[in-house]
Amino acid sequence: MVIGAGALGLSTALHCALAGRSVVVVERLTAGSQASGRAAGLFKSVQADELRTRLARRSIEKAVSFADWAGVPLEVARPGSFLIARTDQHRDYLRRELAQSRRWGADVREADPAQVAGELGYYRAGGGEFTLWCPEDVYIEEPASLVLAYLDACRVHGAVVLENEPVAGITRMYGRATGVETAERSIAAPVVVDAAGGWVRQVGELAGAWVPLAPVRHQLLITAPAPEVDPADPITRVVDAAIYLRPARGGLMAGGFETDPLPVDPRARPASFSTDDVPLDLGVLRALTAQVAAEVPAVESAPVAEHRGGLFTMSPDGRFVVGPVLDLPGLWVASGCNGSGFSSSPAIGEALADWITSGDAPPGVEALSPGRFGPLPDDALVTRGLWQYAHYYDPVSGASEAAAPAGAPGQD
Ligand SMILES: Cc1cc2nc3c(=O)[nH]c(=O)nc-3n(C[C@H](O)[C@H](O)[C@H](O)COP(=O)(O)OP(=O)(O)OC[C@H]3O[C@@H](n4cnc5c(N)ncnc54)[C@H](O)[C@@H]3O)c2cc1C
Repeated sequence: MVIGAGALGLSTALHCALAGRSVVVVERLTAGSQASGRAAGLFKSVQADELRTRLARRSIEKAVSFADWAGVPLEVARPGSFLIARTDQHRDYLRRELAQSRRWGADVREADPAQVAGELGYYRAGGGEFTLWCPEDVYIEEPASLVLAYLDACRVHGAVVLENEPVAGITRMYGRATGVETAERSIAAPVVVDAAGGWVRQVGELAGAWVPLAPVRHQLLITAPAPEVDPADPITRVVDAAIYLRPARGGLMAGGFETDPLPVDPRARPASFSTDDVPLDLGVLRALTAQVAAEVPAVESAPVAEHRGGLFTMSPDGRFVVGPVLDLPGLWVASGCNGSGFSSSPAIGEALADWITSGDAPPGVEALSPGRFGPLPDDALVTRGLWQYAHYYDPVSGASEAAAPAGAPGQD
């Protein structure tokens, strides 16, 4: 059984159902109403290490072929993406990403200015950009459509999704997790997956388990329709500005990573706390978009039509937290999105279901186990999570492992 009907929980449930398991998902609110329903919908083939590159590319493959394996249609925009650097440090960073991503199998190429000018209507190059073209990259226009596709596919393949039913307890017997309790019922299960997103720690604590994650706010905006935005234009990530852009609803979507991010611990909030209560600050996004005002005038001039946000679950090393909880057999975790849980959900769900049903971790995936950090005090967990967030596209992380507290950041 799975706790939480976000992208990670639903994908895990769907893949377990496809493997012939009987599955129940229990969701506190409604499916996809938290982080997954707020995502930018971006999938990114260029990642900071080989495992994440493999998972990201597998996810793209599964998203574009969703109907073939899940039996339910899913619309995916396939415009590719540009990665742009405008400082020496970031140009070097992208050169390293180019070399390593190609080594790891991703289709990434250097783009010349004519290609950028010809294909990217909303970006006016200032000269001096170093640009990579990533033809594999895709996005899903409205994040709810992936959630709905997972929900439909779960129904088709026999997984039950219970909504508006918070899990209030995890039962244990003889040192194992044996099921969950809600106000309505007890559900016995040999496998319990904690996929509670920003609430993953407190759900783990229901079983006395420690999950090494720190939730951090992330925000984006969508402008009103703007004439210079062609809906078919590619995704753009300007790495020195730590910002991503894509066409959305006739306007532009822009989101980014501030250097002074906001940790949000739902455990310290009232029990009713939800994503709607995450404090939003348009000033943060405005400071980020100001860095590309000359190149992307629409993002500054067009009025803001939507401003939304939610929680990333950041891990100390920027990698997913996926696998069995060592000191409590039967309890598993599907989390540690580090900003790419939406896009990596197809492959993460597949890998975790494979691990649960076969008993063996798929190659490399045991490196994502929740137990890999050893004990860490809460303040270190938060500090390291914030560092990962603030260095999302930071050259330091690629240049020197020693410069980072641990590992390299994840990337959506
Ligand atoms: C503004 C924004 C933009 C983003 N853009 C991207 C992007 O472009 N690409 C990308 O890959 N990722 C993106 N992300 C990150 C992505 O949204 C997350 O990685 C992903 O949604 C995490 O999925 P999840 O299933 O872990 O969490 P959630 O979607 O939050 O789901 C967890 C669920 O658990 C439920 N739950 C909690 N407690 C309980 C309980 N006690 N009982 C039952 N259920 C419970 C919650 O109600 C919730 O529905 C973005 C996030 C934000 C906020």
